[in-house]
Amino acid sequence: TTFEHLGLSKALADVLAGLDYSQPTPIQQQAIPPLMRGKDILALAQTGTGKTAAFTLPILERLSHDKRPPLPGQPKALILAPTRELAQQIAESLRSYGRKLRLRHGIVVGGVAARPQIKALRDGVDVLVATTGRLLDHIEQGHVRLQNTGILVLDEADRMFDMGFIRDVRKIAAMMPAERQTALFSATMPDEIAKLSREILTEPVRVEI
Ligand code: AMP
Repeated sequence: TTFEHLGLSKALADVLAGLDYSQPTPIQQQAIPPLMRGKDILALAQTGTGKTAAFTLPILERLSHDKRPPLPGQPKALILAPTRELAQQIAESLRSYGRKLRLRHGIVVGGVAARPQIKALRDGVDVLVATTGRLLDHIEQGHVRLQNTGILVLDEADRMFDMGFIRDVRKIAAMMPAERQTALFSATMPDEIAKLSREILTEPVRVEI
């Protein structure tokens, strides 16, 4: 299987070849086709399996076909991560895979100045990577609205639960359109995550490696 067989464009496949990704990993083979079709997914996957590319590549591919620029403060896709470090790694993947596409991404995490984040949000981003606390601050202050954000990814959902962020995740998901695409990635499936997945996913494709 090649990345193009999974539904990605030659532009993205060429970038991946340049990064020496000779073929999709098992999680990518299973997750990319349903995500390209707009399906929800529930994925059990550990770090190191290529899970970041499994959700960032379909988002980049799908948004690259939408020629409308993002509206100020209204990202088209939201990726939630438990920690600042993980959010930074995801943003770095978006930058690296998206180098040939004209898409903008932004990152909103705690522990750093809010001003540059506010400016980037106002300029408009296609994809926003965020931790929950700082995102909720920006929402409360009116710098972001999620009412038109049609794609949601939760990365390392079990760690978000361990860190006490599930209430925030529910609150954020509730602000988004009911008819959105949602992908939940988790290394383990404790009861709380199974329950959350029943609440926020619609007829998900299950992916396990
Ligand atoms: P992750 O599981 O997302 O943390 O990714 C683990 C590592 O695998 C990262 O360094 C990626 O750059 C790399 N990677 C992801 N997909 C592939 C692939 N298809 N071929 C080779 N390396 C990959």
